[in-house]
Amino acid sequence: MPISLSPNPNMDYKAPQSHVDEEEVSSLLLRPLERFIFAAGDPACAMEELCKLEDPPAQCGRVFGMGEPTYTCRDCALDPTVVMCLDCFNSSEHKRHRYKMSTSYGGGYCDCGDVEAFSSHPHCSVHARGLAGRREGDAGAGEGAGLLSKVPADIQVA
Ligand code: ZN
Repeated sequence: MPISLSPNPNMDYKAPQSHVDEEEVSSLLLRPLERFIFAAGDPACAMEELCKLEDPPAQCGRVFGMGEPTYTCRDCALDPTVVMCLDCFNSSEHKRHRYKMSTSYGGGYCDCGDVEAFSSHPHCSVHARGLAGRREGDAGAGEGAGLLSKVPADIQVA
């Protein structure tokens, strides 16, 4: 046990954590661990990125930079302006369909998650998770139910 958290002879045994100095634990233990875990970059930013992965939005909306690759599914896109970014395309069913790759002139955005843009599979696997989260929320389900829906279906116990 780290010294900061160890019992000591002067501690109040009825409140076994009252002698723990939160600031000391933070600076000697938690922050170095955070820096270790998020070796690259600022822990606060890395944590924010992780939260986004945990609860992705139901639509992508990524704005394309000049020269960025875009993908159109010839089977499912309802019109030729419907495009997906590389990340969404790679996580979607459409990579197994007939598709066309182009290069963005910049300014357009990824249509992944727009149910009016695709005849089927409007969400890649990432944004489908976001959709599941929204639905739980709409139904007024508790936090626990929302989290359970993020567990892959094949390991969920009914
Ligand atoms: Zn498709």
